[in-house]
Amino acid sequence: MSTTSTLFIDGEWVASADGGTRDIHCPADGELVGTVSEATTADVEAAIAAARAAFDRGDWSAVPAPERGDFLLRVAAGLRDRKDQFARAETLDTGKRIIESEIDIDDITACFAYFGKLAGQDAGRIVDAGTSDVVSRIQYEPVGVCGLISPWNYPLLQAAWKIAPALAAGNSIILKPSELTPHTAILMMQLLHDLGLPRGVANLVLGAGAVAGAPLSSHPDVDMVSFTGGLETGKVIAASAAATVKKVALELGGKNPNVIFADADFDAAIDNALNAAFVHSGQVCSAGARLVVEASIAEKFVDELVRRAQLIRLGGPFDPDAETGPLISAAHRDKVTAYVAKGIAEGARLRCGGTWGEGDLAKGFYFTPTVLDEVQRGMSVVIDEAFGPVVTVETFETEDEAVLIANDTVYGLAGAVWTQDAGRAQRIANRLRHGTIWINDYHPYLPQAEWGGFGQSGVGRELGPMGLAEYHEAKHVYQNI
Ligand code: NAD
Repeated sequence: MSTTSTLFIDGEWVASADGGTRDIHCPADGELVGTVSEATTADVEAAIAAARAAFDRGDWSAVPAPERGDFLLRVAAGLRDRKDQFARAETLDTGKRIIESEIDIDDITACFAYFGKLAGQDAGRIVDAGTSDVVSRIQYEPVGVCGLISPWNYPLLQAAWKIAPALAAGNSIILKPSELTPHTAILMMQLLHDLGLPRGVANLVLGAGAVAGAPLSSHPDVDMVSFTGGLETGKVIAASAAATVKKVALELGGKNPNVIFADADFDAAIDNALNAAFVHSGQVCSAGARLVVEASIAEKFVDELVRRAQLIRLGGPFDPDAETGPLISAAHRDKVTAYVAKGIAEGARLRCGGTWGEGDLAKGFYFTPTVLDEVQRGMSVVIDEAFGPVVTVETFETEDEAVLIANDTVYGLAGAVWTQDAGRAQRIANRLRHGTIWINDYHPYLPQAEWGGFGQSGVGRELGPMGLAEYHEAKHVYQNI
Protein backbone atom coordinates (compact mmCIF):
# COMPACT_ATOMS: atom_id res chain seq x y z
CA MET A 1 0.00 0.00 0.00
CA SER A 2 1.38 3.42 -0.91
CA THR A 3 0.70 6.10 1.67
CA THR A 4 -1.95 7.68 -0.52
CA SER A 5 -3.57 4.50 -1.81
CA THR A 6 -5.54 3.99 1.34
CA LEU A 7 -9.00 3.15 0.07
CA PHE A 8 -9.62 -0.59 0.21
CA ILE A 9 -12.01 -1.64 -2.54
CA ASP A 10 -12.60 -5.18 -3.82
CA GLY A 11 -9.48 -6.50 -2.11
CA GLU A 12 -7.11 -3.82 -3.48
CA TRP A 13 -5.52 -0.71 -1.99
CA VAL A 14 -6.39 2.14 -4.35
CA ALA A 15 -6.04 5.90 -4.54
CA SER A 16 -9.00 8.21 -4.81
CA ALA A 17 -10.50 8.50 -8.33
CA ASP A 18 -9.52 12.18 -8.48
CA GLY A 19 -6.25 11.78 -6.58
CA GLY A 20 -7.61 13.73 -3.61
CA THR A 21 -5.84 13.36 -0.26
CA ARG A 22 -6.15 14.61 3.30
CA ASP A 23 -3.40 15.27 5.83
CA ILE A 24 -3.97 13.93 9.32
CA HIS A 25 -2.43 15.86 12.21
CA CYS A 26 -2.05 14.74 15.81
CA PRO A 27 -4.35 16.85 18.03
CA ALA A 28 -1.77 16.78 20.84
CA ASP A 29 0.91 18.74 18.98
CA GLY A 30 -0.20 19.38 15.40
CA GLU A 31 2.46 17.05 13.94
CA LEU A 32 1.66 15.42 10.60
CA VAL A 33 0.67 11.79 11.20
CA GLY A 34 0.02 10.78 7.61
CA THR A 35 -1.67 11.56 4.33
CA VAL A 36 -4.61 9.44 3.20
CA SER A 37 -6.90 9.21 0.19
CA GLU A 38 -10.09 11.22 0.18
CA ALA A 39 -12.83 9.19 -1.51
CA THR A 40 -15.04 10.58 -4.27
CA THR A 41 -18.63 9.51 -4.86
CA ALA A 42 -17.34 7.19 -7.62
CA ASP A 43 -15.00 5.48 -5.13
CA VAL A 44 -17.86 4.88 -2.71
CA GLU A 45 -20.02 3.51 -5.52
CA ALA A 46 -17.18 1.15 -6.50
CA ALA A 47 -16.95 -0.04 -2.90
CA ILE A 48 -20.72 -0.63 -2.76
CA ALA A 49 -20.59 -2.56 -6.06
CA ALA A 50 -17.73 -4.71 -4.76
CA ALA A 51 -19.59 -5.44 -1.54
CA ARG A 52 -22.77 -6.31 -3.46
CA ALA A 53 -20.93 -8.64 -5.83
CA ALA A 54 -19.10 -10.40 -2.98
CA PHE A 55 -22.37 -10.85 -1.16
CA ASP A 56 -24.15 -12.22 -4.21
CA ARG A 57 -21.26 -14.63 -4.98
CA GLY A 58 -21.69 -16.05 -1.47
CA ASP A 59 -17.93 -16.00 -0.83
CA TRP A 60 -18.64 -15.06 2.76
CA SER A 61 -22.42 -14.93 3.13
CA ALA A 62 -22.66 -18.65 2.34
CA VAL A 63 -19.77 -19.68 4.60
CA PRO A 64 -21.17 -21.64 7.58
CA ALA A 65 -21.56 -19.39 10.62
CA PRO A 66 -19.13 -21.40 12.83
CA GLU A 67 -16.40 -20.90 10.19
CA ARG A 68 -17.10 -17.18 10.13
CA GLY A 69 -16.80 -17.28 13.91
CA ASP A 70 -13.42 -19.02 13.65
CA PHE A 71 -12.25 -16.26 11.34
CA LEU A 72 -13.24 -13.60 13.89
CA LEU A 73 -11.30 -15.48 16.56
CA ARG A 74 -8.27 -15.27 14.26
CA VAL A 75 -8.88 -11.52 13.94
CA ALA A 76 -8.81 -11.32 17.75
CA ALA A 77 -5.48 -13.18 17.77
CA GLY A 78 -4.13 -10.88 15.04
CA LEU A 79 -5.09 -7.83 17.08
CA ARG A 80 -3.23 -9.25 20.06
CA ASP A 81 -0.13 -9.72 17.87
CA ARG A 82 -0.36 -6.22 16.37
CA LYS A 83 -1.55 -4.45 19.53
CA ASP A 84 1.32 -1.98 19.73
CA GLN A 85 0.93 -0.92 16.10
CA PHE A 86 -2.82 -0.42 16.46
CA ALA A 87 -2.54 1.43 19.79
CA ARG A 88 0.13 3.79 18.48
CA ALA A 89 -1.91 4.60 15.37
CA GLU A 90 -5.01 5.28 17.45
CA THR A 91 -3.09 7.55 19.78
CA LEU A 92 -1.48 9.59 17.01
CA ASP A 93 -4.83 10.18 15.29
CA THR A 94 -6.81 11.02 18.44
CA GLY A 95 -4.15 12.44 20.77
CA LYS A 96 -5.43 10.17 23.53
CA ARG A 97 -3.01 8.69 26.04
CA ILE A 98 -1.28 5.55 24.79
CA ILE A 99 -2.49 3.65 27.86
CA GLU A 100 -6.09 4.43 26.86
CA SER A 101 -5.46 3.27 23.29
CA GLU A 102 -3.96 0.03 24.61
CA ILE A 103 -7.12 -0.54 26.63
CA ASP A 104 -9.20 0.21 23.53
CA ILE A 105 -7.30 -2.42 21.52
CA ASP A 106 -7.83 -4.97 24.30
CA ASP A 107 -11.55 -4.13 24.24
CA ILE A 108 -11.65 -4.46 20.44
CA THR A 109 -9.93 -7.85 20.72
CA ALA A 110 -12.55 -8.92 23.28
CA CYS A 111 -15.32 -7.74 20.94
CA PHE A 112 -14.05 -9.87 18.05
CA ALA A 113 -13.60 -12.84 20.38
CA TYR A 114 -17.13 -12.44 21.72
CA PHE A 115 -18.79 -12.30 18.29
CA GLY A 116 -16.48 -15.04 17.06
CA LYS A 117 -17.86 -17.35 19.73
CA LEU A 118 -21.46 -16.15 19.30
CA ALA A 119 -21.48 -16.55 15.51
CA GLY A 120 -21.72 -20.33 15.51
CA GLN A 121 -24.19 -20.55 18.39
CA ASP A 122 -26.92 -18.38 17.00
CA ALA A 123 -28.45 -20.88 14.56
CA GLY A 124 -32.12 -19.92 14.64
CA ARG A 125 -34.82 -22.09 16.13
CA ILE A 126 -37.44 -24.75 15.45
CA VAL A 127 -40.99 -23.47 15.77
CA ASP A 128 -43.71 -25.74 17.12
CA ALA A 129 -46.47 -25.41 14.49
CA GLY A 130 -48.90 -27.43 16.61
CA THR A 131 -49.11 -30.30 14.12
CA SER A 132 -46.78 -33.09 12.98
CA ASP A 133 -47.71 -32.30 9.37
CA VAL A 134 -45.64 -29.15 9.36
CA VAL A 135 -41.93 -28.46 9.80
CA SER A 136 -41.34 -24.86 10.70
CA ARG A 137 -38.14 -23.08 11.54
CA ILE A 138 -36.70 -19.59 11.91
CA GLN A 139 -33.33 -19.19 10.26
CA TYR A 140 -31.06 -16.19 10.46
CA GLU A 141 -29.53 -14.78 7.31
CA PRO A 142 -27.28 -11.79 6.68
CA VAL A 143 -28.95 -8.50 5.84
CA GLY A 144 -26.70 -7.98 2.80
CA VAL A 145 -24.51 -4.95 2.17
CA CYS A 146 -23.95 -2.86 5.31
CA GLY A 147 -22.56 0.67 5.42
CA LEU A 148 -20.76 1.24 8.72
CA ILE A 149 -20.08 4.85 9.70
CA SER A 150 -18.04 5.60 12.81
CA PRO A 151 -16.86 8.65 14.84
CA TRP A 152 -13.44 9.89 15.97
CA ASN A 153 -13.58 9.52 19.74
CA TYR A 154 -13.10 5.74 19.89
CA PRO A 155 -12.33 5.23 16.21
CA LEU A 156 -11.62 1.53 15.95
CA LEU A 157 -13.66 0.50 18.98
CA GLN A 158 -16.86 1.99 17.60
CA ALA A 159 -16.08 0.51 14.21
CA ALA A 160 -15.34 -2.91 15.74
CA TRP A 161 -18.75 -2.98 17.45
CA LYS A 162 -20.14 -2.94 13.89
CA ILE A 163 -17.51 -4.87 11.88
CA ALA A 164 -17.44 -7.92 14.18
CA PRO A 165 -21.20 -8.63 14.31
CA ALA A 166 -21.72 -7.65 10.66
CA LEU A 167 -19.08 -10.16 9.52
CA ALA A 168 -20.23 -12.77 12.05
CA ALA A 169 -23.69 -12.60 10.48
CA GLY A 170 -22.28 -13.01 6.93
CA ASN A 171 -22.70 -9.50 5.57
CA SER A 172 -20.46 -7.54 3.21
CA ILE A 173 -19.37 -4.20 4.63
CA ILE A 174 -18.19 -0.77 3.62
CA LEU A 175 -16.53 1.02 6.54
CA LYS A 176 -16.42 4.84 6.62
CA PRO A 177 -14.44 5.98 9.68
CA SER A 178 -14.24 9.62 10.74
CA GLU A 179 -12.16 11.69 8.35
CA LEU A 180 -10.13 12.82 11.37
CA THR A 181 -9.02 9.36 12.51
CA PRO A 182 -8.56 6.92 9.59
CA HIS A 183 -5.39 5.03 10.47
CA THR A 184 -6.65 2.16 12.61
CA ALA A 185 -9.36 1.46 10.04
CA ILE A 186 -6.60 1.07 7.45
CA LEU A 187 -4.75 -1.35 9.73
CA MET A 188 -7.94 -3.30 10.34
CA MET A 189 -8.57 -3.77 6.60
CA GLN A 190 -5.00 -4.95 6.17
CA LEU A 191 -5.48 -7.46 9.00
CA LEU A 192 -8.74 -8.81 7.52
CA HIS A 193 -7.03 -9.10 4.13
CA ASP A 194 -3.92 -10.80 5.57
CA LEU A 195 -6.14 -13.36 7.29
CA GLY A 196 -7.81 -14.23 4.00
CA LEU A 197 -11.20 -12.55 4.04
CA PRO A 198 -12.50 -12.91 0.45
CA ARG A 199 -12.17 -9.81 -1.71
CA GLY A 200 -15.05 -7.36 -1.66
CA VAL A 201 -16.40 -8.55 1.67
CA ALA A 202 -14.80 -5.70 3.64
CA ASN A 203 -14.19 -2.34 1.95
CA LEU A 204 -12.89 0.96 3.29
CA VAL A 205 -13.73 4.46 2.11
CA LEU A 206 -12.18 7.52 3.72
CA GLY A 207 -13.11 11.16 3.74
CA ALA A 208 -15.72 13.74 4.64
CA GLY A 209 -19.15 12.55 5.68
CA ALA A 210 -21.07 14.45 3.02
CA VAL A 211 -19.15 12.68 0.20
CA ALA A 212 -17.66 9.44 1.52
CA GLY A 213 -20.46 8.71 4.00
CA ALA A 214 -23.66 9.98 2.39
CA PRO A 215 -24.01 7.26 -0.32
CA LEU A 216 -24.00 4.61 2.40
CA SER A 217 -27.39 5.88 3.56
CA SER A 218 -28.84 6.75 0.15
CA HIS A 219 -27.61 4.09 -2.30
CA PRO A 220 -30.21 1.45 -3.20
CA ASP A 221 -27.60 -1.35 -3.15
CA VAL A 222 -26.87 -0.78 0.54
CA ASP A 223 -29.28 -2.79 2.68
CA MET A 224 -28.40 -1.40 6.07
CA VAL A 225 -26.62 1.60 7.51
CA SER A 226 -25.18 1.47 10.99
CA PHE A 227 -24.04 4.83 12.30
CA THR A 228 -22.33 6.07 15.44
CA GLY A 229 -21.96 9.81 15.81
CA GLY A 230 -23.81 12.98 16.65
CA LEU A 231 -27.56 13.40 16.92
CA GLU A 232 -27.90 15.85 14.05
CA THR A 233 -25.91 13.64 11.66
CA GLY A 234 -27.99 10.69 12.80
CA LYS A 235 -31.18 12.47 11.82
CA VAL A 236 -29.77 13.24 8.35
CA ILE A 237 -28.75 9.61 7.88
CA ALA A 238 -32.09 8.22 9.08
CA ALA A 239 -33.99 10.56 6.75
CA SER A 240 -31.77 9.64 3.80
CA ALA A 241 -32.08 5.91 4.53
CA ALA A 242 -35.87 6.17 4.64
CA ALA A 243 -36.04 6.70 0.86
CA THR A 244 -34.92 3.12 0.23
CA VAL A 245 -36.27 1.73 3.54
CA LYS A 246 -32.89 0.54 4.73
CA LYS A 247 -32.42 -1.07 8.07
CA VAL A 248 -30.96 1.64 10.30
CA ALA A 249 -28.96 1.33 13.51
CA LEU A 250 -28.03 4.57 15.28
CA GLU A 251 -25.73 5.14 18.26
CA LEU A 252 -25.95 8.84 18.99
CA GLY A 253 -25.01 11.21 21.75
CA GLY A 254 -25.81 11.40 25.43
CA LYS A 255 -26.28 13.90 28.25
CA ASN A 256 -25.76 11.46 31.01
CA PRO A 257 -26.74 11.96 34.66
CA ASN A 258 -24.49 10.86 37.50
CA VAL A 259 -26.74 10.83 40.57
CA ILE A 260 -25.03 11.05 43.97
CA PHE A 261 -27.03 10.40 47.15
CA ALA A 262 -25.84 11.65 50.53
CA ASP A 263 -25.21 8.08 51.72
CA ALA A 264 -22.82 7.31 48.82
CA ASP A 265 -19.23 6.27 49.49
CA PHE A 266 -17.92 9.82 49.21
CA ASP A 267 -14.37 9.09 48.05
CA ALA A 268 -15.42 6.50 45.47
CA ALA A 269 -18.14 8.81 44.15
CA ILE A 270 -15.64 11.67 43.77
CA ASP A 271 -13.06 9.47 42.01
CA ASN A 272 -15.67 8.18 39.61
CA ALA A 273 -17.32 11.56 39.02
CA LEU A 274 -13.93 12.84 37.87
CA ASN A 275 -13.37 9.83 35.65
CA ALA A 276 -16.95 9.99 34.34
CA ALA A 277 -16.62 13.61 33.27
CA PHE A 278 -12.98 14.01 32.31
CA VAL A 279 -11.54 10.77 30.94
CA HIS A 280 -10.54 11.30 27.27
CA SER A 281 -11.31 14.99 27.95
CA GLY A 282 -15.01 14.22 28.13
CA GLN A 283 -15.13 13.10 24.49
CA VAL A 284 -17.14 10.06 25.47
CA CYS A 285 -20.77 9.48 24.46
CA SER A 286 -21.54 8.15 27.94
CA ALA A 287 -19.59 10.87 29.83
CA GLY A 288 -21.10 11.76 33.19
CA ALA A 289 -21.66 15.35 32.12
CA ARG A 290 -24.54 16.09 34.51
CA LEU A 291 -23.82 15.66 38.20
CA VAL A 292 -27.05 15.40 40.15
CA VAL A 293 -26.14 15.65 43.85
CA GLU A 294 -28.29 15.43 46.99
CA ALA A 295 -28.50 18.97 48.36
CA SER A 296 -27.29 18.07 51.87
CA ILE A 297 -23.82 17.09 50.57
CA ALA A 298 -23.67 19.25 47.46
CA GLU A 299 -21.39 21.96 48.81
CA LYS A 300 -18.85 19.55 50.26
CA PHE A 301 -19.01 17.30 47.19
CA VAL A 302 -18.57 20.07 44.64
CA ASP A 303 -15.77 21.77 46.61
CA GLU A 304 -13.84 18.51 46.60
CA LEU A 305 -14.64 17.83 42.94
CA VAL A 306 -13.35 21.28 41.97
CA ARG A 307 -10.21 20.85 44.07
CA ARG A 308 -9.44 17.52 42.42
CA ALA A 309 -10.40 18.68 38.90
CA GLN A 310 -7.82 21.47 39.17
CA LEU A 311 -5.13 18.87 39.93
CA ILE A 312 -5.78 16.83 36.77
CA ARG A 313 -2.63 16.89 34.71
CA LEU A 314 -3.09 17.50 30.99
CA GLY A 315 -0.39 16.12 28.75
CA GLY A 316 0.69 14.49 25.52
CA PRO A 317 -0.15 10.90 24.65
CA PHE A 318 3.27 9.51 25.57
CA ASP A 319 3.69 11.55 28.78
CA PRO A 320 3.41 8.93 31.56
CA ASP A 321 2.25 11.56 34.06
CA ALA A 322 -0.59 12.89 31.89
CA GLU A 323 -4.06 12.11 33.19
CA THR A 324 -6.00 13.37 30.19
CA GLY A 325 -5.24 14.62 26.69
CA PRO A 326 -6.40 17.12 24.09
CA LEU A 327 -9.66 17.67 22.26
CA ILE A 328 -9.77 16.34 18.71
CA SER A 329 -9.46 19.59 16.76
CA ALA A 330 -9.31 23.37 16.91
CA ALA A 331 -12.90 23.50 15.66
CA HIS A 332 -14.05 21.19 18.43
CA ARG A 333 -12.18 23.22 21.05
CA ASP A 334 -13.93 26.35 19.74
CA LYS A 335 -17.26 24.55 20.10
CA VAL A 336 -16.55 23.55 23.71
CA THR A 337 -15.30 27.07 24.49
CA ALA A 338 -18.48 28.64 23.08
CA TYR A 339 -20.60 26.15 24.98
CA VAL A 340 -19.02 27.09 28.31
CA ALA A 341 -19.28 30.82 27.52
CA LYS A 342 -22.96 30.41 26.70
CA GLY A 343 -23.55 28.56 29.96
CA ILE A 344 -21.93 31.37 31.93
CA ALA A 345 -23.96 33.96 30.00
CA GLU A 346 -27.12 32.04 30.90
CA GLY A 347 -26.25 32.23 34.60
CA ALA A 348 -24.07 29.20 35.37
CA ARG A 349 -21.16 29.75 37.77
CA LEU A 350 -17.70 28.71 36.53
CA ARG A 351 -16.03 26.87 39.43
CA CYS A 352 -12.88 25.83 37.56
CA GLY A 353 -11.48 25.30 34.07
CA GLY A 354 -12.80 26.92 30.92
CA THR A 355 -9.27 27.69 29.67
CA TRP A 356 -6.96 26.33 26.96
CA GLY A 357 -3.67 24.53 27.55
CA GLU A 358 -0.64 26.81 27.88
CA GLY A 359 3.11 26.54 27.31
CA ASP A 360 4.00 23.30 25.49
CA LEU A 361 0.34 22.35 25.46
CA ALA A 362 -0.54 25.39 23.34
CA LYS A 363 0.56 23.36 20.29
CA GLY A 364 -2.39 21.02 20.87
CA PHE A 365 -6.09 21.48 21.51
CA TYR A 366 -6.14 21.15 25.28
CA PHE A 367 -9.04 22.35 27.41
CA THR A 368 -8.92 22.39 31.21
CA PRO A 369 -11.41 20.31 33.23
CA THR A 370 -14.41 22.53 33.82
CA VAL A 371 -17.08 22.52 36.53
CA LEU A 372 -20.20 24.69 36.26
CA ASP A 373 -22.67 24.94 39.14
CA GLU A 374 -25.75 27.04 39.86
CA VAL A 375 -27.21 25.74 36.60
CA GLN A 376 -30.95 25.59 35.98
CA ARG A 377 -32.91 23.04 34.00
CA GLY A 378 -33.55 24.51 30.58
CA MET A 379 -30.07 26.06 30.19
CA SER A 380 -28.21 24.92 27.09
CA VAL A 381 -25.34 23.58 29.24
CA VAL A 382 -27.68 21.06 30.82
CA ILE A 383 -29.47 20.20 27.58
CA ASP A 384 -26.84 19.98 24.84
CA GLU A 385 -23.96 17.53 24.55
CA ALA A 386 -20.67 19.45 25.02
CA PHE A 387 -18.48 16.46 24.21
CA GLY A 388 -15.66 18.07 26.17
CA PRO A 389 -14.34 18.13 29.75
CA VAL A 390 -17.33 20.01 31.17
CA VAL A 391 -19.59 18.90 34.00
CA THR A 392 -22.63 20.73 35.36
CA VAL A 393 -24.01 20.37 38.89
CA GLU A 394 -27.69 20.20 39.82
CA THR A 395 -29.09 19.36 43.26
CA PHE A 396 -32.10 17.44 44.53
CA GLU A 397 -33.93 16.83 47.83
CA THR A 398 -35.89 13.62 47.16
CA GLU A 399 -35.65 10.42 45.13
CA ASP A 400 -38.48 11.58 42.91
CA GLU A 401 -36.69 14.83 42.18
CA ALA A 402 -33.44 12.98 41.42
CA VAL A 403 -35.25 10.77 38.90
CA LEU A 404 -37.04 13.73 37.35
CA ILE A 405 -33.78 15.61 36.78
CA ALA A 406 -31.90 12.53 35.58
CA ASN A 407 -34.58 11.73 32.99
CA ASP A 408 -35.01 15.33 31.85
CA THR A 409 -33.16 14.98 28.53
CA VAL A 410 -34.02 14.03 24.97
CA TYR A 411 -31.12 11.60 25.19
CA GLY A 412 -31.08 8.32 27.09
CA LEU A 413 -27.70 6.66 26.71
CA ALA A 414 -26.32 6.05 30.19
CA GLY A 415 -26.47 7.13 33.81
CA ALA A 416 -25.22 6.22 37.25
CA VAL A 417 -26.54 6.18 40.79
CA TRP A 418 -24.39 6.31 43.92
CA THR A 419 -25.89 5.11 47.20
CA GLN A 420 -25.16 2.48 49.82
CA ASP A 421 -28.86 1.66 50.10
CA ALA A 422 -29.29 -1.39 47.83
CA GLY A 423 -33.06 -1.01 47.64
CA ARG A 424 -32.82 2.60 46.60
CA ALA A 425 -30.16 1.75 44.02
CA GLN A 426 -32.51 -0.74 42.36
CA ARG A 427 -35.52 1.60 42.59
CA ILE A 428 -33.61 4.39 40.86
CA ALA A 429 -32.07 2.06 38.27
CA ASN A 430 -35.54 0.84 37.35
CA ARG A 431 -36.87 4.36 36.92
CA LEU A 432 -34.02 5.84 34.85
CA ARG A 433 -34.76 5.93 31.12
CA HIS A 434 -31.24 5.26 29.85
CA GLY A 435 -29.70 2.29 28.03
CA THR A 436 -27.00 1.60 30.63
CA ILE A 437 -27.27 2.23 34.38
CA TRP A 438 -24.25 1.92 36.62
CA ILE A 439 -24.71 1.47 40.36
CA ASN A 440 -21.71 2.63 42.40
CA ASP A 441 -19.51 2.65 39.31
CA TYR A 442 -19.08 4.56 36.07
CA HIS A 443 -18.10 3.62 32.51
CA PRO A 444 -17.50 -0.15 32.53
CA TYR A 445 -19.26 -2.11 29.82
CA LEU A 446 -19.18 -5.72 28.66
CA PRO A 447 -19.09 -7.05 25.08
CA GLN A 448 -21.74 -9.59 26.09
CA ALA A 449 -24.11 -6.88 27.36
CA GLU A 450 -26.15 -4.72 24.98
CA TRP A 451 -25.16 -1.08 24.57
CA GLY A 452 -27.40 1.62 23.15
CA GLY A 453 -29.79 4.42 23.80
CA PHE A 454 -33.32 5.18 24.86
CA GLY A 455 -34.93 8.25 23.30
CA GLN A 456 -32.80 10.24 20.86
CA SER A 457 -29.62 8.44 21.87
CA GLY A 458 -30.34 5.97 19.14
CA VAL A 459 -32.09 3.09 17.48
CA GLY A 460 -31.11 -0.52 18.08
CA ARG A 461 -28.34 -2.01 20.17
CA GLU A 462 -24.68 -2.87 19.76
CA LEU A 463 -22.86 -5.68 21.56
CA GLY A 464 -24.56 -8.66 23.19
CA PRO A 465 -26.91 -11.01 21.31
CA MET A 466 -29.02 -8.05 20.12
CA GLY A 467 -25.89 -6.52 18.63
CA LEU A 468 -25.60 -9.58 16.36
CA ALA A 469 -29.34 -9.70 15.67
CA GLU A 470 -29.15 -6.19 14.17
CA TYR A 471 -27.19 -7.71 11.27
CA HIS A 472 -29.55 -10.65 10.71
CA GLU A 473 -32.75 -11.04 8.80
CA ALA A 474 -35.04 -13.68 10.30
CA LYS A 475 -36.62 -16.00 7.76
CA HIS A 476 -39.54 -18.30 8.60
CA VAL A 477 -39.37 -21.54 6.60
CA TYR A 478 -42.67 -23.44 6.73
CA GLN A 479 -43.00 -26.84 5.10
CA ASN A 480 -46.22 -28.75 4.74
CA ILE A 481 -45.15 -32.41 4.75
P1 NAD B 1 -20.37 13.15 13.56
O1 NAD B 1 -21.84 12.92 13.56
O2 NAD B 1 -19.87 14.49 13.21
O3 NAD B 1 -19.63 12.15 12.55
C1 NAD B 1 -19.72 10.75 12.71
C2 NAD B 1 -19.42 10.09 11.37
O4 NAD B 1 -20.43 10.43 10.44
C3 NAD B 1 -18.10 10.53 10.74
O5 NAD B 1 -17.50 9.43 10.11
C4 NAD B 1 -18.56 11.55 9.70
O6 NAD B 1 -17.67 11.72 8.64
C5 NAD B 1 -19.84 10.90 9.23
N1 NAD B 1 -20.80 11.78 8.57
C6 NAD B 1 -20.98 13.12 8.75
N2 NAD B 1 -21.98 13.56 7.95
C7 NAD B 1 -22.45 12.49 7.27
C8 NAD B 1 -23.46 12.29 6.30
N3 NAD B 1 -24.23 13.29 5.86
N4 NAD B 1 -23.67 11.05 5.80
C9 NAD B 1 -22.93 10.01 6.24
N5 NAD B 1 -21.93 10.14 7.15
C10 NAD B 1 -21.70 11.36 7.67
O7 NAD B 1 -19.88 12.69 15.00
P2 NAD B 1 -18.40 12.81 15.59
O8 NAD B 1 -18.17 14.25 15.92
O9 NAD B 1 -17.44 12.09 14.73
O10 NAD B 1 -18.56 11.96 16.94
C11 NAD B 1 -19.02 12.47 18.12
C12 NAD B 1 -20.46 12.04 18.37
O11 NAD B 1 -20.56 10.62 18.37
C13 NAD B 1 -20.97 12.48 19.72
O12 NAD B 1 -22.26 13.02 19.59
C14 NAD B 1 -21.00 11.19 20.52
O13 NAD B 1 -21.92 11.20 21.58
C15 NAD B 1 -21.34 10.19 19.48
N6 NAD B 1 -20.95 8.84 19.90
C16 NAD B 1 -21.92 7.97 20.30
C17 NAD B 1 -21.57 6.70 20.76
C18 NAD B 1 -22.61 5.72 21.23
O14 NAD B 1 -22.25 4.59 21.52
N7 NAD B 1 -23.87 6.10 21.33
C19 NAD B 1 -20.23 6.34 20.78
C20 NAD B 1 -19.25 7.25 20.36
C21 NAD B 1 -19.64 8.50 19.91
